[in-house]
Amino acid sequence: MLAAKIVDAVRRTIGDAQSLVLLHEPYLPPNSSQYVQECIDTGWVSSAGAYVTKFEKQLSEFTGSARAVAVVNGTAALQLCFQLAGVQRDDEILCPSLSFVATANAISHCGAVPHFIDVEPTRMTLCPEELEKRLSLIGRTENGRFVNRETGRRIAAVCPMHCLGHPADIQGILDVCNRFELPLVEDAAESLGSYCAGKHTGRFGLISAVSFNGNKILTTGGGGAILTEDATLADRAKHLSTTAKVAHPWEFYHDEVAYNYRLPNINAALGCAQLEVLSETIAAKRRIADAYAESFRTLEEVDFIQEPSGTTSNYWLNGFILRPKHASIRDEILHALNAANYQSRPLWQPIHTFPMYIHYPRGPLENTMSLCARTINIPSSSQLLTRLASR
Ligand SMILES: *Cc1c(COP(=O)(O)O)cnc(C)c1O
Repeated sequence: MLAAKIVDAVRRTIGDAQSLVLLHEPYLPPNSSQYVQECIDTGWVSSAGAYVTKFEKQLSEFTGSARAVAVVNGTAALQLCFQLAGVQRDDEILCPSLSFVATANAISHCGAVPHFIDVEPTRMTLCPEELEKRLSLIGRTENGRFVNRETGRRIAAVCPMHCLGHPADIQGILDVCNRFELPLVEDAAESLGSYCAGKHTGRFGLISAVSFNGNKILTTGGGGAILTEDATLADRAKHLSTTAKVAHPWEFYHDEVAYNYRLPNINAALGCAQLEVLSETIAAKRRIADAYAESFRTLEEVDFIQEPSGTTSNYWLNGFILRPKHASIRDEILHALNAANYQSRPLWQPIHTFPMYIHYPRGPLENTMSLCARTINIPSSSQLLTRLASR
């Protein structure tokens, strides 16, 4: 019954589906082929070329961030963010368990340990009150170091994530970070084009990471970027992501252990083409979300996920949350939606339930578990706007 009503709400919004309507497809505007062709014609397809610089400049203009450094993917971007925030081996980083696994993987790649904190019950993002409570409970200053009294590890940073594109209560989180003198690193992988109080996500903390993976709102095939207001950190990010090579016309001199994380030029070319039309892409996604919200309005059993007040979301992935008493039929609804050719998925499984993260420290995670059991994402590509318009 409910499953049929939900399928109907999706059908009313985006029309019949003869073939599978994907959850999220890339939008590659007409200029893409011209820019990529130019890379091929000139031979500048790899680690040097003008598109990387152009892409970084356009990104910093779009987000308002003083600097943007393009890298191979969002996970690598996040790993460098932690390293640049001073995270060291055996440190702990507070982050949500309700995220894509990459948040915790990037922490592990630094040799550090994720410490999982619950999310807000409807907002799905790191809860400032839970963060504060947990830090007060387990934090203690020992020889000038702020440590977890239960594990003895240094607490080195806080990393919230802007979930499905919807901004976290980033000011609330920042206030807690400031009180405990912890650097804020934002996982803004999903939130390019999302704002809190008019300021782009990823610009509230010390440094942040964006992803341009194939399913994100802008894709370079694979790619990511580091955003920061701090020129010194941005220069360090560039240096670390380009094998720490000291600039010289012919000498190969490297002054520290570093990474080959630079985004190739041909990927940056794809990014430039999409950045030119990103405002229109986001406007399209916001209209699709409005249309879904309207169709779901009369369904009392579910809540369509909308941007928190005081924020503007890119509505990267649309979704709805089942009221608790309907949680048991989540999979029945997933079956019905997919059978009707509307590709739909639950949220990620909580990171702390994976074998490699099961033993790491965590606070209570009730909201995380509850939201994961009740949330379903539905087709969200910007191209769906043409389906909407033709109805
Ligand atoms: C996509 C994503 C990442 C990682 O990005 P990749 O480019 O796939 O490495 C990190 N965190 C979150 C929350 C993401 O959704």
